[in-house]
Amino acid sequence: MTKFLNPFQADWAGMHSGNCAFAVSACLLGIACRYDGRSNFCGPIAELLKKGAVLPVCPETFGGFPVPRLPCERKGDEVYRRDGYRVTDAFQKGVARALSLVLASHASIAILKSKSPSCGFGTIYDGSFTGHLCRGHGLFAEALIANGIPVMSEQVFIRICGKIFPEHCDSSR
Ligand code: SF4
Repeated sequence: MTKFLNPFQADWAGMHSGNCAFAVSACLLGIACRYDGRSNFCGPIAELLKKGAVLPVCPETFGGFPVPRLPCERKGDEVYRRDGYRVTDAFQKGVARALSLVLASHASIAILKSKSPSCGFGTIYDGSFTGHLCRGHGLFAEALIANGIPVMSEQVFIRICGKIFPEHCDSSR
């Protein structure tokens, strides 16, 4: 029978100093860096932080965006603020900073907030600011994939871990 490494019980502290197992969207860890000044706290992922296995990254704040800020959405290769201002360059600056941290940390996988124009993986808002979604990745997810770092959304992480390690993935926490 296949045995899975339990990420909640692994000895991450025994890793070489400076190395992390997971790069994670900072908002999932309870850091209030979202455009509206809130977080997307996710208990099971925050549990990994206690094990010292996690590198928190927020490409948008790394790009110089304040908290709070106007929401942005990706449209093709560009990113726009809700008022129509093109912000692609600042997004790319933040992506470059976040990517260099992830590569230096030797994280082997990234768990990213779904739908975001930076962190979204597979599905993102479509650039119309109407709540509609389209297929695609955020710029940071795309850069990680291009650099060989596997990406999963927090929704997929919880779905998989919830099946294998349900005691750690009670979504009510
Ligand atoms: S850029 Fe990523 S980490 Fe930062 S608030 Fe948006 S989804 Fe969260």
